[in-house]
Amino acid sequence: MAIKQFKTESKRLLDLMANSIYTNTDIFLRELVSNASDALDKRYFLSLTDTGITADDLKIRVECDKKEKTITVTDNGIGMNREELESNLGTIARSGSFDFKEKLDEKEEIDIIGQFGVGFYSAFMVADRIEVLTRKVGEEKAYLWTGTMEGYEIKQAKKEDYGTVIILHIKNNTREKKYDQYLKTDNLQMLVKKYSDFIRYPIMMDLETYDENGNKEIKETTVNSMIPIWKKPKRELKEENYDEFYSLSYYDFEKPLKTIHYKVEGSTSYSALLYIPSVRPFNYFSNEYKLGLKLYSKGVFIKDEAKEIVSDYFRFIRGVVDSDDLSLNISREILQEDRQMAVMKKSIDKKIGTTLEKMLENERETYEKFFEQFGQQLKFGTYDNYGQHKNELIDLLIFKSSNEDRYVTLKEYVSRMKEGQKDIYYASGDSVETIKELPQLEKVLDKGYEVLYFTDSVDEFMANIINAYDGKPFKSLQKGDLDLDSEEEKEEIEKKSKDNEKLLQTIKDDLKDKVTDVRLSSRLKSSPVCLVSDDSLSFGMEKTLNAISQGSVKASRILEINPDHKLFKALAKASKNGEKISDYSTLLYEQALMIAGLPVDDPLEYTRLVSDLMLKAMK
Ligand code: ADP
Ligand code: MG
Repeated sequence: MAIKQFKTESKRLLDLMANSIYTNTDIFLRELVSNASDALDKRYFLSLTDTGITADDLKIRVECDKKEKTITVTDNGIGMNREELESNLGTIARSGSFDFKEKLDEKEEIDIIGQFGVGFYSAFMVADRIEVLTRKVGEEKAYLWTGTMEGYEIKQAKKEDYGTVIILHIKNNTREKKYDQYLKTDNLQMLVKKYSDFIRYPIMMDLETYDENGNKEIKETTVNSMIPIWKKPKRELKEENYDEFYSLSYYDFEKPLKTIHYKVEGSTSYSALLYIPSVRPFNYFSNEYKLGLKLYSKGVFIKDEAKEIVSDYFRFIRGVVDSDDLSLNISREILQEDRQMAVMKKSIDKKIGTTLEKMLENERETYEKFFEQFGQQLKFGTYDNYGQHKNELIDLLIFKSSNEDRYVTLKEYVSRMKEGQKDIYYASGDSVETIKELPQLEKVLDKGYEVLYFTDSVDEFMANIINAYDGKPFKSLQKGDLDLDSEEEKEEIEKKSKDNEKLLQTIKDDLKDKVTDVRLSSRLKSSPVCLVSDDSLSFGMEKTLNAISQGSVKASRILEINPDHKLFKALAKASKNGEKISDYSTLLYEQALMIAGLPVDDPLEYTRLVSDLMLKAMK
């Protein structure tokens, strides 16, 4: 039979892996043992529903032969048939992470390899030839897969029992790398202990011991401790144990920001080991992100990505939940509706919520770090489903504000509102810096009011849904009527508007297709104009909605003019003298657009008008 080539992308990854001397080659054993353990899980799972399948004495064996230069990993798990061999070992499984690597430059590429589960292929880091002898549970035929860096072939073979034997033919030493280190039992034992201690099946090795008479003997021994870390008592565990389990499970070498290990006993009993990561995974907001929460029942793996047991707004949580109450021999669909699952979800959500609350209260800096990574998720959660979960989440939100640029909670904001302040003020923009430049800000700040800076596109939508906090409504500085003024001030503006009625009408006529209204402003101090929208849609929301749906929603545009500004006074004078002011109206409007962060309507006309003015000035 001809040797088959690996698929191109698999081959490139293979080359990358085998030739990278920076990569931690030790992990090959972890990958093979994990695969063996998965295979045992699968056999066990099948045996629960299929009476014809046994699952006794499930175990993994690791051995090495110094003379033959081989390492052998054996399991009596599910095994593979020909098709499975072909599809599982002929192509690389994780093309998603491969695509990602492809985008990085070469140096980064090399360091990043170890961060992914590189799987079966990682064995090619230490072996130049690999044999896989396997027989699938319940089937008669066995197969031998033989692969090198170039390709593989599959032949029919003989095998007595079900399961898989993987034989690695270890590479010759090179100047950089002593591959024969892996041919020492002691070293292999150490690797098993380091990487695979929590594998829940015995990993057997032939180890040297002494019998009662003090004579050396070789004895098959279980090397791993098997008790999963989450089942161990807390007092036996150190921070580094938790961190190690985390980094091995998620290939994240940043320490977790927070570890939550607890046990619940009662009508629903479970133990959980949960982690809040320090850094948001690169694909967190894409469809490729997978929830890192695993569900076990009595120590047996049930499923990855256990969405059923945590709310979507906490989907950054990673870890393990092990329940004593789930019955295993039910199908996975039924599992989803299980009442126990719902109870567990509620309890897990609650635990995460209170952990975050405490963190916010007692470890503010850590919380801010957390929020910078995952705060957007909480905001989406608050907004989602018409605010169904806003009460659970609202006190976990923090915002940058005009108060020293620090993050504040809504509770803090409200507690220090000034006397007479009715609303929670916010202003939105792409960044804190652009918001600070907004002319609308000046007067509110002068009054001593604090302003929340909304920089995430979800913020305004969320504020609309929350509507009010502690009875205090949210109010945008860029929308509607601010109602900042005292009665006297209001009267004054009204009087000025009346006095300038004709002028305002002229400007309005000049801009009739562009704005819905032109009025005198009470929110401006040093800027001549600003643009605001009415109470419904803001400019930021307009931008977001159009980006999502490629539609053309448009927030209403209201031009506000500062009556105390020199420019307005000059304009009034010019108009009174019968000068035509339509060009000035346009210029004011275009300026207001720019300040609001919106594109100028007609850049050519704008430059023409400015050029004309320059010429006039230089005359
Ligand atoms: P992953 O484990 O992430 O799926 P791997 O490259 O490690 O990726 O393995 C690819 C696939 O090969 C596995 O999903 C599994 O189906 C199969 N496989 C590997 N090792 C074994 C084994 N010892 N027994 C049965 N199937 C195996
Ligand atoms: Mg694997």
